[in-house]
Amino acid sequence: MNIGAHLSTKDGFSKLPGNAHALGLKTYQFFSKNQMQWKSRPLTKEDAEAHVTASKQAGIVDEAIHASYLLNLGSPEEDKFKMSYGAFLDEIRRAEELGVPFLIFHPGAHMGSGEGSALKRIAGAMNLAIEETKAAKVKLVVENTAGQGSMVGYSLEHLAYLAENSINTDRIGFCIDTCHAYQAGYDLSNKFDSFLSEFDSKVGIKLIRAFHLNDSKYPFNKHLDRHENLGKGTLSHSFFINLFKETKLAKVPAFLETPEGEEGYPKDLKFLKSLGIKM
Ligand SMILES: [Zn+2]
Ligand SMILES: [Zn+2]
Repeated sequence: MNIGAHLSTKDGFSKLPGNAHALGLKTYQFFSKNQMQWKSRPLTKEDAEAHVTASKQAGIVDEAIHASYLLNLGSPEEDKFKMSYGAFLDEIRRAEELGVPFLIFHPGAHMGSGEGSALKRIAGAMNLAIEETKAAKVKLVVENTAGQGSMVGYSLEHLAYLAENSINTDRIGFCIDTCHAYQAGYDLSNKFDSFLSEFDSKVGIKLIRAFHLNDSKYPFNKHLDRHENLGKGTLSHSFFINLFKETKLAKVPAFLETPEGEEGYPKDLKFLKSLGIKM
């Protein structure tokens, strides 16, 4: 797997490839704007071009942008939905300008309106966004959730619904957060192979565009989204070995999102190496 991590943009977009390289990473994920605010500074042409050039020069592939945490494309409230959809389109356009192939986003929460109706709104928003950005290449990548609160997207059935109802599956895909899957009741520690074959039969393995590689702070199936550094949480060591051994996933990027960020990633990489995993 192509190992990467979520990187801070404090030095500017054009410094991301160099910062990744310094950590020994071949790819990365980042926020293209403040993830906790609706408003964003417009992206200048110079900034976008500087990033595209730096990324090309460094040979970076499979970059991803993580969308704002505020988006809720499943919201039953019309104004919230509209704000989310507007911000979603803005994220897609920024990704396209930055030359980033994947936009990873949380599907949303039903807020009491029921899972089915939220999933319908999310699928509809994705289709509309695909229509409205026809010339774009960026893929809309839904991240599985831990199933906290009224979040949808924790089960393979939810992901399958979004795939089945897409007008163009070339423009969509899924990001498997390993902590979230484990918290949602998929026993990656002991039954990773059956998770993968279930994913393949229900959703299709070729729609896995990325992994979020996180250990889980809490025990299995608690629906609690708390990441832990690799090897320090409740996921088994054999899970990490099995994941990296899977030839069907060899080309999929895996982004670390562990608690200490840039400070902690060297420890995560050291842990993987200690298991004999070649990156
Ligand atoms: Zn996420
Ligand atoms: Zn998480």
